[in-house]
Amino acid sequence: MKPLPPTEENLRLAGECLAKGGIVALPTETVYGLGADAFNARAVARVFEAKARPTFDPLIVHVASMEGVARVASEVPPKARSLMERLWPGPLTLIMPKRDEVPDLVTSGLPTVAIRCPAHPVARSIIVYSGTAIAAPSANPFGYLSPTRAQHVARMLGGRVDLIIDGGPCRVGVESTVLDLTADPPRILRPGGMEREAIEAV
Ligand code: AMP
Ligand code: MG
Repeated sequence: MKPLPPTEENLRLAGECLAKGGIVALPTETVYGLGADAFNARAVARVFEAKARPTFDPLIVHVASMEGVARVASEVPPKARSLMERLWPGPLTLIMPKRDEVPDLVTSGLPTVAIRCPAHPVARSIIVYSGTAIAAPSANPFGYLSPTRAQHVARMLGGRVDLIIDGGPCRVGVESTVLDLTADPPRILRPGGMEREAIEAV
């Protein structure tokens, strides 16, 4: 599978592919992700298989709007609202209680779900075209470095994905910061592209 340029036609194609249960490699501002419809357990299972990712490692669900958050989270804590207003779109993943509609496979059986709104226009456009939320881990085989270019994805996973969209090199180049909002006070579970100071300021 050769990476496709991010023309409007290809972004629509990628969205349709995801809506039909396909798996698509796409650029975000942090790293390239391997996406599937977050509400389709079979599609999500294909992502775990393609990456050889252990199913105890939960995925991040990507949304393009607050409406997307409401479809995934059963409850949005007040602190989450302020953080989303100030720091989204961006490299900040928030852990919130999950809706029953999100398959257990996405969250590795946890009652919580990791949600992020990426700042990359290609990722956002594909999410919108898909009409759903996109569960996407980094687009590398388990144990390999996260890819920051479409060519890396093609080399590592090219034969196992339905589409690769090339959005150029990733601006941030490291994973998102993961913040648990079900803990009080909220806790950083993984440091990443959003600085602790920016989170604390909010
Ligand atoms: P990756 O998609 O490869 O960046 O990995 C996503 C990471 O987010 C996982 O390895 C976990 O560390 C974290 N994560 C995802 N969902 C949850 C959750 N429900 N609770 C806590 N951490 C999570
Ligand atoms: Mg990863």
